[in-house]
Amino acid sequence: MEIYGAIEAGGTKFVCAVGNAALEIIEKVSFPTETPQKTIAAVIDYFNQYKKELKSIGVGSFGPIDVQPNSAEYGYITTTPKLDWQYVDFVGLLKRHFAIPIAWTTDVNAACYGEYISGKGQGLASVVYYTIGTGVGGGALQNGRFVEGFSHPEMGHMLVRRHSEDSFEGNCPFHKSCLEGMAAGPAIEKRVGKKGQELSSDDPFWQIEAEYLAQCAYTTTLLFSPDIIIFGGGVMQQSLLPQVHQAFAELMNGYVKTPPLENYIVQPKLGNDAGTIGCLALAKNQRNLL
Ligand code: ADP
Ligand code: ZN
Repeated sequence: MEIYGAIEAGGTKFVCAVGNAALEIIEKVSFPTETPQKTIAAVIDYFNQYKKELKSIGVGSFGPIDVQPNSAEYGYITTTPKLDWQYVDFVGLLKRHFAIPIAWTTDVNAACYGEYISGKGQGLASVVYYTIGTGVGGGALQNGRFVEGFSHPEMGHMLVRRHSEDSFEGNCPFHKSCLEGMAAGPAIEKRVGKKGQELSSDDPFWQIEAEYLAQCAYTTTLLFSPDIIIFGGGVMQQSLLPQVHQAFAELMNGYVKTPPLENYIVQPKLGNDAGTIGCLALAKNQRNLL
Protein backbone atom coordinates (compact mmCIF):
# COMPACT_ATOMS: atom_id res chain seq x y z
CA MET A 1 0.00 0.00 0.00
CA GLU A 2 1.14 3.56 -0.71
CA ILE A 3 1.13 5.71 2.35
CA TYR A 4 1.87 9.36 3.03
CA GLY A 5 3.25 11.03 6.11
CA ALA A 6 2.09 14.20 7.88
CA ILE A 7 4.03 16.31 10.37
CA GLU A 8 2.30 19.18 12.08
CA ALA A 9 5.13 20.92 13.85
CA GLY A 10 3.66 23.07 16.60
CA GLY A 11 5.20 25.17 19.32
CA THR A 12 3.86 22.90 22.06
CA LYS A 13 3.49 19.57 20.28
CA PHE A 14 4.34 17.73 17.12
CA VAL A 15 1.57 15.67 15.57
CA CYS A 16 2.75 12.93 13.22
CA ALA A 17 0.43 10.79 11.17
CA VAL A 18 0.29 8.41 8.25
CA GLY A 19 -2.58 8.21 5.81
CA ASN A 20 -3.62 6.48 2.63
CA ALA A 21 -4.24 7.80 -0.86
CA ALA A 22 -7.85 8.60 0.08
CA LEU A 23 -6.35 10.93 2.74
CA GLU A 24 -7.76 8.77 5.51
CA ILE A 25 -5.68 8.98 8.66
CA ILE A 26 -4.38 5.49 9.50
CA GLU A 27 -2.51 6.45 12.65
CA LYS A 28 -1.80 9.66 14.51
CA VAL A 29 0.58 10.27 17.42
CA SER A 30 1.95 13.33 19.17
CA PHE A 31 5.15 14.30 20.95
CA PRO A 32 5.85 17.35 23.08
CA THR A 33 8.03 19.99 21.39
CA GLU A 34 11.39 19.76 23.16
CA THR A 35 14.85 20.44 21.76
CA PRO A 36 15.14 19.97 18.00
CA GLN A 37 17.53 17.04 18.53
CA LYS A 38 15.07 15.16 20.74
CA THR A 39 11.90 16.00 18.85
CA ILE A 40 13.24 15.38 15.37
CA ALA A 41 14.72 12.07 16.57
CA ALA A 42 11.24 11.07 17.79
CA VAL A 43 9.73 12.06 14.43
CA ILE A 44 12.33 10.03 12.52
CA ASP A 45 11.78 7.03 14.80
CA TYR A 46 8.07 7.20 14.21
CA PHE A 47 8.29 7.26 10.42
CA ASN A 48 11.05 4.63 10.31
CA GLN A 49 8.45 1.92 10.94
CA TYR A 50 6.75 2.94 7.66
CA LYS A 51 9.91 3.54 5.67
CA LYS A 52 9.11 0.92 3.01
CA GLU A 53 5.63 2.15 2.11
CA LEU A 54 6.16 5.87 2.68
CA LYS A 55 5.91 7.81 -0.61
CA SER A 56 6.32 11.36 0.64
CA ILE A 57 5.87 13.48 3.75
CA GLY A 58 4.04 16.80 4.14
CA VAL A 59 5.22 19.20 6.84
CA GLY A 60 3.24 22.14 8.20
CA SER A 61 5.48 24.00 10.60
CA PHE A 62 5.34 26.80 13.12
CA GLY A 63 7.44 29.67 11.90
CA PRO A 64 8.65 31.85 10.57
CA ILE A 65 10.08 29.34 8.10
CA ASP A 66 12.02 29.73 4.87
CA VAL A 67 9.83 28.82 1.89
CA GLN A 68 12.00 30.38 -0.83
CA PRO A 69 13.35 27.67 -3.14
CA ASN A 70 16.44 29.74 -4.08
CA SER A 71 17.39 30.56 -0.52
CA ALA A 72 20.32 28.85 1.22
CA GLU A 73 18.01 28.36 4.20
CA TYR A 74 15.08 26.83 2.30
CA GLY A 75 13.49 24.23 4.55
CA TYR A 76 14.71 25.90 7.75
CA ILE A 77 12.72 27.23 10.67
CA THR A 78 14.20 30.74 10.92
CA THR A 79 13.66 33.59 13.40
CA THR A 80 11.28 31.81 15.77
CA PRO A 81 11.10 33.12 19.34
CA LYS A 82 11.79 29.49 20.39
CA LEU A 83 15.54 29.97 20.58
CA ASP A 84 16.50 26.28 20.36
CA TRP A 85 14.69 26.08 17.06
CA GLN A 86 16.21 29.11 15.35
CA TYR A 87 17.81 28.23 12.02
CA VAL A 88 17.15 24.50 12.35
CA ASP A 89 17.39 22.74 8.99
CA PHE A 90 14.21 20.78 9.57
CA VAL A 91 13.68 19.44 6.06
CA GLY A 92 17.40 18.73 5.65
CA LEU A 93 17.39 16.55 8.77
CA LEU A 94 14.36 14.63 7.49
CA LYS A 95 15.93 14.26 4.06
CA ARG A 96 18.98 12.66 5.57
CA HIS A 97 16.80 9.77 6.76
CA PHE A 98 14.10 9.59 4.15
CA ALA A 99 15.05 9.85 0.50
CA ILE A 100 11.54 10.84 -0.54
CA PRO A 101 9.88 14.15 -1.46
CA ILE A 102 9.09 16.39 1.50
CA ALA A 103 6.39 19.05 1.12
CA TRP A 104 7.10 22.11 3.24
CA THR A 105 4.85 24.98 4.30
CA THR A 106 3.49 26.77 7.36
CA ASP A 107 1.12 25.08 9.82
CA VAL A 108 -1.76 27.36 8.83
CA ASN A 109 -1.12 26.92 5.12
CA ALA A 110 -1.32 23.17 5.66
CA ALA A 111 -4.65 23.50 7.47
CA CYS A 112 -5.88 25.84 4.73
CA TYR A 113 -4.93 23.23 2.12
CA GLY A 114 -6.70 20.49 4.09
CA GLU A 115 -9.93 22.49 4.10
CA TYR A 116 -9.44 23.28 0.40
CA ILE A 117 -8.99 19.63 -0.57
CA SER A 118 -11.62 18.03 1.62
CA GLY A 119 -13.30 20.59 3.85
CA LYS A 120 -15.25 23.82 3.52
CA GLY A 121 -12.96 25.17 0.81
CA GLN A 122 -13.57 22.32 -1.61
CA GLY A 123 -14.16 23.57 -5.14
CA LEU A 124 -13.52 27.22 -4.24
CA ALA A 125 -10.93 29.36 -6.01
CA SER A 126 -9.88 31.45 -3.02
CA VAL A 127 -9.70 30.19 0.55
CA VAL A 128 -8.36 31.94 3.65
CA TYR A 129 -7.78 30.06 6.90
CA TYR A 130 -7.00 31.48 10.35
CA THR A 131 -6.18 29.66 13.54
CA ILE A 132 -7.03 31.43 16.78
CA GLY A 133 -5.16 29.44 19.41
CA THR A 134 -1.93 29.93 21.37
CA GLY A 135 -1.06 32.32 18.55
CA VAL A 136 -2.96 33.66 15.58
CA GLY A 137 -1.86 32.58 12.12
CA GLY A 138 -3.34 32.86 8.67
CA GLY A 139 -2.84 31.25 5.29
CA ALA A 140 -4.37 31.94 1.89
CA LEU A 141 -4.81 29.84 -1.24
CA GLN A 142 -5.54 31.15 -4.71
CA ASN A 143 -6.40 28.52 -7.33
CA GLY A 144 -4.64 25.87 -5.27
CA ARG A 145 -1.42 27.83 -4.72
CA PHE A 146 -0.36 29.50 -1.51
CA VAL A 147 -0.28 33.25 -1.61
CA GLU A 148 3.31 34.28 -0.92
CA GLY A 149 6.08 36.54 -2.13
CA PHE A 150 9.50 37.01 -0.55
CA SER A 151 8.09 34.84 2.27
CA HIS A 152 4.83 33.41 3.61
CA PRO A 153 2.14 35.76 4.96
CA GLU A 154 2.02 36.63 8.66
CA MET A 155 -1.62 37.59 8.80
CA GLY A 156 -1.97 36.91 12.53
CA HIS A 157 0.03 40.06 13.27
CA MET A 158 -2.19 42.50 11.36
CA LEU A 159 -3.02 45.62 13.31
CA VAL A 160 -6.47 45.96 14.84
CA ARG A 161 -8.30 49.02 16.16
CA ARG A 162 -8.59 48.90 19.94
CA HIS A 163 -12.11 48.17 21.21
CA SER A 164 -13.50 51.12 23.21
CA GLU A 165 -14.05 48.95 26.30
CA ASP A 166 -10.71 47.16 26.14
CA SER A 167 -7.80 48.52 28.16
CA PHE A 168 -5.52 45.50 27.69
CA GLU A 169 -2.21 46.68 26.26
CA GLY A 170 -1.68 43.51 24.24
CA ASN A 171 0.98 40.84 24.62
CA CYS A 172 2.64 40.32 21.27
CA PRO A 173 6.38 40.55 21.98
CA PHE A 174 6.87 42.40 18.67
CA HIS A 175 3.80 44.65 18.29
CA LYS A 176 1.93 44.47 21.61
CA SER A 177 -1.59 45.16 20.32
CA CYS A 178 -1.68 43.37 16.96
CA LEU A 179 -4.43 40.78 16.33
CA GLU A 180 -2.44 37.99 18.00
CA GLY A 181 -1.50 40.27 20.89
CA MET A 182 -5.17 41.11 21.50
CA ALA A 183 -7.12 37.99 20.54
CA ALA A 184 -5.03 34.80 20.90
CA GLY A 185 -5.67 32.45 23.85
CA PRO A 186 -2.85 33.82 26.05
CA ALA A 187 -4.10 37.40 25.52
CA ILE A 188 -7.53 36.34 26.74
CA GLU A 189 -6.02 34.64 29.78
CA LYS A 190 -3.83 37.60 30.66
CA ARG A 191 -6.72 40.03 30.33
CA VAL A 192 -9.46 38.20 32.22
CA GLY A 193 -7.33 36.00 34.51
CA LYS A 194 -8.81 32.73 33.20
CA LYS A 195 -8.31 30.51 30.22
CA GLY A 196 -10.86 30.96 27.45
CA GLN A 197 -12.37 27.56 28.13
CA GLU A 198 -13.00 28.54 31.76
CA LEU A 199 -14.77 31.76 30.87
CA SER A 200 -18.56 31.60 30.78
CA SER A 201 -20.04 31.70 27.30
CA ASP A 202 -22.12 34.79 28.19
CA ASP A 203 -19.14 36.75 29.54
CA PRO A 204 -19.14 40.25 27.99
CA PHE A 205 -15.51 39.73 26.97
CA TRP A 206 -16.60 37.50 24.09
CA GLN A 207 -18.16 40.49 22.35
CA ILE A 208 -14.74 42.20 22.38
CA GLU A 209 -13.07 39.04 21.05
CA ALA A 210 -15.70 38.75 18.31
CA GLU A 211 -15.10 42.35 17.27
CA TYR A 212 -11.37 41.74 16.84
CA LEU A 213 -12.11 38.66 14.73
CA ALA A 214 -14.60 40.72 12.72
CA GLN A 215 -11.85 43.28 12.04
CA CYS A 216 -9.65 40.43 10.86
CA ALA A 217 -12.39 39.19 8.50
CA TYR A 218 -13.01 42.75 7.30
CA THR A 219 -9.35 43.33 6.41
CA THR A 220 -9.17 39.87 4.82
CA THR A 221 -12.19 40.67 2.67
CA LEU A 222 -10.70 43.96 1.50
CA LEU A 223 -7.34 42.34 0.67
CA PHE A 224 -8.43 39.11 -1.01
CA SER A 225 -12.20 39.06 -1.64
CA PRO A 226 -11.89 35.33 -0.93
CA ASP A 227 -14.71 32.83 -1.44
CA ILE A 228 -14.53 31.78 2.19
CA ILE A 229 -12.81 32.71 5.47
CA ILE A 230 -12.35 29.80 7.86
CA PHE A 231 -11.62 30.37 11.57
CA GLY A 232 -10.21 27.37 13.44
CA GLY A 233 -8.15 26.87 16.60
CA GLY A 234 -8.93 26.37 20.28
CA VAL A 235 -10.52 29.76 20.92
CA MET A 236 -13.14 29.12 18.22
CA GLN A 237 -14.59 26.36 20.39
CA GLN A 238 -16.57 29.23 21.89
CA SER A 239 -19.56 29.80 19.62
CA LEU A 240 -18.38 33.20 18.53
CA LEU A 241 -19.45 33.21 14.90
CA PRO A 242 -22.89 34.84 15.28
CA GLN A 243 -21.24 37.76 17.09
CA VAL A 244 -18.46 37.89 14.51
CA HIS A 245 -21.01 37.99 11.67
CA GLN A 246 -22.92 40.84 13.26
CA ALA A 247 -19.80 42.88 14.03
CA PHE A 248 -18.46 42.21 10.51
CA ALA A 249 -21.69 43.46 8.93
CA GLU A 250 -21.53 46.64 11.01
CA LEU A 251 -17.89 47.27 10.14
CA MET A 252 -18.36 46.62 6.44
CA ASN A 253 -21.45 48.79 6.43
CA GLY A 254 -22.56 47.49 3.04
CA TYR A 255 -19.38 48.57 1.24
CA VAL A 256 -18.50 45.10 -0.12
CA LYS A 257 -21.31 42.70 -0.91
CA THR A 258 -19.94 39.39 0.36
CA PRO A 259 -21.47 35.91 0.10
CA PRO A 260 -24.07 35.24 2.86
CA LEU A 261 -22.11 35.50 6.10
CA GLU A 262 -23.11 32.05 7.39
CA ASN A 263 -21.37 30.57 4.32
CA TYR A 264 -18.57 33.12 4.20
CA ILE A 265 -17.12 33.31 7.71
CA VAL A 266 -17.17 29.73 8.98
CA GLN A 267 -15.47 27.11 11.14
CA PRO A 268 -13.42 24.29 9.61
CA LYS A 269 -15.20 21.14 8.53
CA LEU A 270 -12.19 18.99 9.42
CA GLY A 271 -11.79 20.47 12.91
CA ASN A 272 -8.52 19.37 14.50
CA ASP A 273 -7.65 17.20 11.51
CA ALA A 274 -7.42 20.08 9.00
CA GLY A 275 -3.64 20.35 9.45
CA THR A 276 -3.00 16.60 9.31
CA ILE A 277 -5.17 16.06 6.24
CA GLY A 278 -3.60 19.13 4.64
CA CYS A 279 -0.10 17.71 5.20
CA LEU A 280 -1.15 14.34 3.75
CA ALA A 281 -2.69 16.07 0.74
CA LEU A 282 0.41 18.22 0.18
CA ALA A 283 2.51 15.05 0.27
CA LYS A 284 0.21 13.15 -2.05
CA ASN A 285 -0.28 16.03 -4.51
CA GLN A 286 3.45 16.80 -4.49
CA ARG A 287 3.00 20.45 -3.53
CA ASN A 288 5.69 22.81 -2.24
CA LEU A 289 8.24 20.05 -2.52
CA LEU A 290 11.79 19.96 -1.38
P1 ADP B 1 -2.33 25.59 19.58
O1 ADP B 1 -2.57 26.97 19.11
O2 ADP B 1 -1.28 25.53 20.66
O3 ADP B 1 -2.09 24.61 18.48
P2 ADP B 1 -5.17 25.38 20.17
O4 ADP B 1 -5.57 25.77 18.80
O5 ADP B 1 -5.91 24.25 20.83
O6 ADP B 1 -3.65 25.04 20.31
O7 ADP B 1 -5.36 26.68 21.07
C1 ADP B 1 -5.09 26.70 22.42
C2 ADP B 1 -5.69 27.98 23.03
O8 ADP B 1 -7.13 27.92 22.88
C3 ADP B 1 -5.40 28.12 24.51
O9 ADP B 1 -5.00 29.45 24.76
C4 ADP B 1 -6.74 27.81 25.17
O10 ADP B 1 -6.92 28.51 26.37
C5 ADP B 1 -7.74 28.25 24.13
N1 ADP B 1 -9.00 27.50 24.23
C6 ADP B 1 -9.15 26.16 24.24
N2 ADP B 1 -10.45 25.81 24.35
C7 ADP B 1 -11.14 26.98 24.41
C8 ADP B 1 -12.53 27.29 24.53
N3 ADP B 1 -13.47 26.36 24.65
N4 ADP B 1 -12.85 28.60 24.52
C9 ADP B 1 -11.91 29.56 24.40
N5 ADP B 1 -10.61 29.32 24.32
C10 ADP B 1 -10.22 28.04 24.32
ZN1 ZN C 1 2.34 40.82 16.60
